[in-house]
This record gives sequence, C-alpha cells and structure tokens, in this order.
Amino acid sequence: MAKPRLVVLTGAGISAESGIKTFRDADGLWEEYKVTDVATPEAWARDPGLVQEFYNQRRKQLLGVEPNAGHLALAEAEQWFDVRVITQNIDDLHERAGSSKVLHLHGQLRYAQSSLDASDIYPIEGWELRMGDLAQDGSQLRPHVVWFGEDVPNMVPAVEWVKEAEYFAVIGSSLNVYPAASLGAFAPHGCPFFLVDPKPVSTHSAEVTFIQAPASTGTPEMIQRIRELAGV
Ligand code: NAD
Repeated sequence: MAKPRLVVLTGAGISAESGIKTFRDADGLWEEYKVTDVATPEAWARDPGLVQEFYNQRRKQLLGVEPNAGHLALAEAEQWFDVRVITQNIDDLHERAGSSKVLHLHGQLRYAQSSLDASDIYPIEGWELRMGDLAQDGSQLRPHVVWFGEDVPNMVPAVEWVKEAEYFAVIGSSLNVYPAASLGAFAPHGCPFFLVDPKPVSTHSAEVTFIQAPASTGTPEMIQRIRELAGV
C-alpha cells in the first residue's frame, strides 16, 4: 500500500539549532546586514563583490555545521510516510540528513548560476565563488539563490505537492516571506495541519495543531502524533 503523503514546509528555524542564524530572530542576520545590500538584484548590480562575499561567508559556515534532530526526524519519517520537504532554506541540511524528496524554493547555497540564465547551474567546490568565475555563456557566476523581487519557479511543483498532501506541516518559518507563506492555503480541505515553532506564528488557517517547541524536539513529537493519527 502507498505510504500516506506528508508535506512539510521548512524555514530558517529548522536549521537554527545546527548553528545557522535565522533572519528575523533578535540575533538574526537582518540585524547585521540590510536585505537591500545583499539579497536583491539591485544589490548585485551595484556591488557584486559584497554580495559574493556575503554568500561566501554563509557557504563557509554551512560546510562546518551538521543536520540536527529536526532534519533527521524528517528523514527517518520516510519509513512510514511519503515525505515531501519543501524548504525555504538554501542550506543542504535536509539532503545531508537523508531526506530523498527536497524542493528548494529559494535556491541552493552550494550551487552557482549564470547571471543571464537562472536555469544554468553549477555545483560549487568548497566555499568560494569569485568574481571572474564564469558560466559557459561567458557571464559572471552568481549564487544560485532567489533574491527578493525574483521569480520563484519551484512554487509550481510545490503547489502540486501541497495539493496532494494528506498531512501538512510548517516547521521553523515565520510565514513572512511570500509566495512560500501562502502554500498552506493549497492543502486539501480537512488535511491535518501541524506547526512547529518556539514562538506563535500566524497562519490564517482555522485549525492548526501548534507544537510550541524548537525543531529538534518538536519535529520528532510531531511525527509521533501524525503516526498515531495515520495508524502507521
Ligand atoms: P524567518 O527567519 O522569517 O523565521 C524563522 C522562524 O523560525 C521564526 O518563526 C522563529 O520563531 C523560528 N525558530 C527559531 N528558532 C527555531 C528552532 N530552534 N526551531 C524551530 N523554529 C525556530 O525564516 P523563514 O520563514 O525561513 O524566512 C526567511 C528567509 O530567509 C527564507 O527565504 C529563507 O530562504 C532565508 N534563510 C535561509 C536560511 C538557511 O538556509 N538556513 C537561514 C536564514 C534565512
């Protein structure tokens, strides 16, 4: 028999306990950088070196951290569920934890893309992408990251996954960044909706089971509760 489908939207919060800062918490990244200086096409046009350096530092940090119990619990849940992870994160901690179906809405830090064609992507060896590193079309390579104001092409398959969810969950997302924040609205009517976050999050959804906890303990607890609901 097919395993029940569990669709999970994850945000920066699931990686916080691995040591990667979230953007909006008090000690988050936005405190140190202005979004308009590092995460917009205008910033890239104005000062590409600064933008490269920002993402080089993020990549360097990523190589030194490990998935936490939250990422691992989602990977283990594949024993019982057809788990589809839709992540707003650009880190690769879900993949390293062993999740097999991961869709990145906002790109991947360990990849570069042509500045002319977002679908022309290249894995990055190590942590550094330099000015002067070129794509095959001769353009400067930039981080494979969706910046504010850019299209989110993976929203299309993400919506399809959510429409077919039997269980839906959001872990570690303030649900402030659109269009990702609107994904829950595509879940089928009556689909159980779980939320894991240490702080209350507004969802616009009538019935949500809120597990107020960090991802490392809240995710295993959530999986246990969904297993009981599903009888698996
Ligand atoms: P956000 O910063 O807006 O919200 C983070 C959420 O995580 C908050 O609700 C916070 O209460 C919660 N949180 C904090 N610690 C937690 C923990 N231990 N366990 C569970 N939840 C915890 O993040 P967002 O909604 O993902 O949106 C921010 C944008 O920044 C996204 O586009 C994302 O791509 C990007 N981002 C990515 C990374 C990454 O790749 N790891 C890191 C920072 C930001």
